[in-house]
Amino acid sequence: MDATFYEKFYMYMTKYTFTAMTRATPTDFQFSVKVPETGLVILDVDAYSSGLNFVLGEAFPHRRLAALYLSRIKEEYYGLKPNTEFLYERMVKECIHELGHIFGFNHCPDMLCVMHFSNSLSDTDFKTKSFCRVCRIKKPIF
Ligand SMILES: [Zn+2]
Ligand SMILES: [Zn+2]
Repeated sequence: MDATFYEKFYMYMTKYTFTAMTRATPTDFQFSVKVPETGLVILDVDAYSSGLNFVLGEAFPHRRLAALYLSRIKEEYYGLKPNTEFLYERMVKECIHELGHIFGFNHCPDMLCVMHFSNSLSDTDFKTKSFCRVCRIKKPIF
């Protein structure tokens, strides 16, 4: 475990992004936050990107802006019972992933790495919230 890496990452998350995200309530998910360093927008919508059927999130590193789209990470989308625990777990993974792009990380072939590209929601559920060793070595600071 690379303590420095995670300390720094969570410092970024906490200081610039995560506080606003955790303030959102399940019934009030639609909000945006813009701070000088990094912006994260969470929208309760379904989103598409050119060349892809759908996207769970997007990052615009040059603008230091990331977006997370909630529709397809909700159980309800698939006709299942709402599950807040799954929703938060997926939100956190996708937020870390998109913020990872902003901090300069690319997609990673390791299916357990948070930077692995999610082709489907099962990829998101399979991967962890952590950066793999290769990613951490490649980019120990950002
Ligand atoms: Zn990505
Ligand atoms: Zn990785």
